[in-house]
Amino acid sequence: MPTAITHFIGGRTVAGTSTRTAPVYNPATGEETGRVALANTADVNAAVAAAKAVAHAWAHTTPLRRARILNAFLRIAEERTDELAALITAEHGKVLSDAKGEIQRGLEVVEFATGIPQLLKGEVTENVGTRVDSHALRQPLGVVAGITPFNFPVMVPMWMFPVALACGNCFVLKPSERDPSPALLVAAWLKEAGLPDGVFSVVHGDKEAVDALLHHPDIAAVSFVGSTPIARYIYATATANGKRAQALGGAKNHMIVMPDADMDQAVDALMGAAYGSAGERCMAISVAVPVGEKTADALVAKLIPKVRALKVGPGTDPDSEMGPLVTKVHRDKVSGYIDAGVAEGAELLVDGRGLSLQGYEGGYFLGGTLFDRVTPEMSIYREEIFGPVLAITRAPDYATAAKLINEHEFGNGTAIFTRDGDAAREFAHGIEVGMVGINVPIPVPMAFHSFGGWKASLFGDHHMHGPEGVRFYTRLKTITTRWPTGIRAGADFVMPTME
Ligand code: NAD
Repeated sequence: MPTAITHFIGGRTVAGTSTRTAPVYNPATGEETGRVALANTADVNAAVAAAKAVAHAWAHTTPLRRARILNAFLRIAEERTDELAALITAEHGKVLSDAKGEIQRGLEVVEFATGIPQLLKGEVTENVGTRVDSHALRQPLGVVAGITPFNFPVMVPMWMFPVALACGNCFVLKPSERDPSPALLVAAWLKEAGLPDGVFSVVHGDKEAVDALLHHPDIAAVSFVGSTPIARYIYATATANGKRAQALGGAKNHMIVMPDADMDQAVDALMGAAYGSAGERCMAISVAVPVGEKTADALVAKLIPKVRALKVGPGTDPDSEMGPLVTKVHRDKVSGYIDAGVAEGAELLVDGRGLSLQGYEGGYFLGGTLFDRVTPEMSIYREEIFGPVLAITRAPDYATAAKLINEHEFGNGTAIFTRDGDAAREFAHGIEVGMVGINVPIPVPMAFHSFGGWKASLFGDHHMHGPEGVRFYTRLKTITTRWPTGIRAGADFVMPTME
């Protein structure tokens, strides 16, 4: 009997008034393990109302007190990481060690947010005019919403809510309906850590719930992470409704391998970056660009046996390097891309289709797949596949490789493997991508820097977490002060100049 997965509103579990639900599967077995409630507008309104009722009190809670609650949450989550990781693996499918890694990267943002008293310190100028002083400070926005994808059910919400809460906002989270349970455990731990009821709510749902958030007059800002078509829609709708918005979209991350690169290091990096989490990462490398035929041949020769030897299995098996894909629909979509690559004339070197694992015949598995001689017109080059499929696009020289990246629709992450400082510097300065790695295949910025891509990988002006996160979740107020001894007699009708 599948478990009923309900909302968390106003500090308690709530069934909601909608009768619509969606199935949640264990991707390793194909078993339907849960049915998640899909909120209607009334359910969303209830979460926003619960937040609004406490927003003033939370905004006026001292930053130090807010930080202490996040600190208590951090300790709980660190002690019980295994429990949360097991929940991620059960609904997402990724291997347990990867699930723990995602939690750790998320908790680093919580750690960052516990420094909020320091981060919220404003600016002061004495004597902006004669006996006139100014200070600028940042205040919370009110109630904000986060809409998140399936691939990081814990880390991506943690890019948002720790900073939002620390800044004094209330937060309504709409997680992916494909792996909804981890968000509920996070909500329960926040409550246990002392977060007042209503400050953080979880509303499950699909487009109906998202639209209710986007049109709600009491939602001041929307943070989104997901695919590019939805990111575009979220940004356009939220801003049209007067909200602040940041919407992170899809990716097609290239890694250039220069002729002087350490080939073994480059191959190891590509294996982890292309096939880790079954390629369901927005920072996964999906295109390798070896420079020169000799580099390409050497790379291919070393990759083929490693891709063939990938250990695919259930996420709960410590020997598995790669788990199943999230749903049957997604597995079939990725498999369809492999068909398309073959039809378009790419050279299929390792074929992951049709993989069946003994004892897990109902699971959504796909083996590691490797294509060579992929060209820019092919759909497997242009589109995000979001699966364990690595394309090799050969380039004759560095300039051609860099041009490929700069001309691609997406600009999330990229990397170069080289020992040549000049090439690395040229790459870092000239490449049109938001996050760049030099001999680092997945350059995900740490919590105290900010995460975000360029071009069709991000809509909005702010990246997530780090200093950009604090700016996104606060608004600036500048106060100019003069005391009676500084005030001249008589009315002034000219533009004040502070002389
Ligand atoms: P998705 O766009 O299908 O869903 C994301 C969220 O939007 C979910 O909460 C979903 O319920 C909601 N949603 C889906 N369809 C909607 C609609 N029509 N109207 C309103 N809301 C809708 O993405 P996904 O499949 O869950 O996640 C994978 C995608 O996320 C990939 O494209 C990946 O690159 C991207 N992603 C990007 C980043 C980044 O930092 N740029 C990080 C992680 C994932």
